[in-house]
Amino acid sequence: MSGNWERLSFRREGAGKGGPALRSIEVSFHLKLRDYTTIGIGGAAERVVFPRSPAEVREILSAERRAGRAVYTMGAGSNLLVSDGGVAGTVLCTKKHLSKVVFLGGQTVVAEAGVMLPRLAVLCALSGLSGIEPLSGIPGTVGGALSLNAGAYGRQIGDLAEWVEIADAEGEIHRVEAAAVRFGYRETDFPVKGIVVRVGFRFAEGTREAVFELMRQWNEKRRADQPWGEKTFGSTFRNPPGRESAGLLLDRAGMKGQREGDACFSEKHANFLLNRGRATAADVRRLMDRGQRAVSETAGVLLVPEVKLWGEFDA
Ligand SMILES: Cc1cc2nc3c(=O)[nH]c(=O)nc-3n(C[C@H](O)[C@H](O)[C@H](O)COP(=O)(O)OP(=O)(O)OC[C@H]3O[C@@H](n4cnc5c(N)ncnc54)[C@H](O)[C@@H]3O)c2cc1C
Repeated sequence: MSGNWERLSFRREGAGKGGPALRSIEVSFHLKLRDYTTIGIGGAAERVVFPRSPAEVREILSAERRAGRAVYTMGAGSNLLVSDGGVAGTVLCTKKHLSKVVFLGGQTVVAEAGVMLPRLAVLCALSGLSGIEPLSGIPGTVGGALSLNAGAYGRQIGDLAEWVEIADAEGEIHRVEAAAVRFGYRETDFPVKGIVVRVGFRFAEGTREAVFELMRQWNEKRRADQPWGEKTFGSTFRNPPGRESAGLLLDRAGMKGQREGDACFSEKHANFLLNRGRATAADVRRLMDRGQRAVSETAGVLLVPEVKLWGEFDA
């Protein structure tokens, strides 16, 4: 890991006169984001903060707002391409510490934003709770998945949510019922804009054995269809509405195995872009452009990136 580690002190809002006024929040300066993205690419962030609770998210947001700094939210970095120049501002990373899961009894489970979906799925299976199995191989966090309505094999995470807690730009936390959220294809429109800090889920009753067996089956299918154990950010482009999948269009356009430097489109699934060594964000961007041009020429379709781009890229 690179970067300088320090403790930053933020004033605790509403602290009583006699009580402690400051609380330490973990922060790192000039941290290379390539160590925090699944594709292993990305320049440095000016600062990265690692909140331990929704209350710390509040404190960070209000402090950063007062300082006039831009805040980027990162979960597991599994759907991100960060430019080689990195990002100016503050990256709020949920994955490290915002990872509590509480089983409330019945079928209700509350998970903080940084909880990884595979871990949540295993905890649900151990409690005989069913519903999340098709999503159990997605290497993202609850917050990232909710904000993108991640899905697989006909199940979207939005289908499982009962409510979502969102910290707005001032740091105020709002609880929003899932019925008031518009969950679309790999996008979510929350009535309050901000950072997902906690989600209440409602699952179905099952048995431990049956839930583990379903997880095994879905993950076997995933391993058969997609590259496994590679540095990637998953699907590069969204599936165009009413057309063949982005993977099929890229395959027909001859993009399987095509490279730019150490970046290449997987031979197994053409919509998965891999870092086979020391690929840069510029290599990936060039390869994405080539894929878009090839599909536009062969199928007349403009593929739209599913991966989120952070930082500056050449036009
Ligand atoms: C091998 C592989 C397989 C994958 N398979 C699938 C799949 O089957 N289905 C699927 O949908 N996706 C898949 N993905 C993509 C990715 O895992 C999902 O999109 C995942 O939900 C992203 O979560 P994350 O925590 O990594 O988000 P990040 O990549 O860290 O962030 C992605 C976006 O979400 C925002 N965000 C993150 N956390 C929060 C938060 N707490 N509040 C608000 N916004 C937030 C970020 O600002 C950014 O815009 C796959 C990726 C890989 C590498």
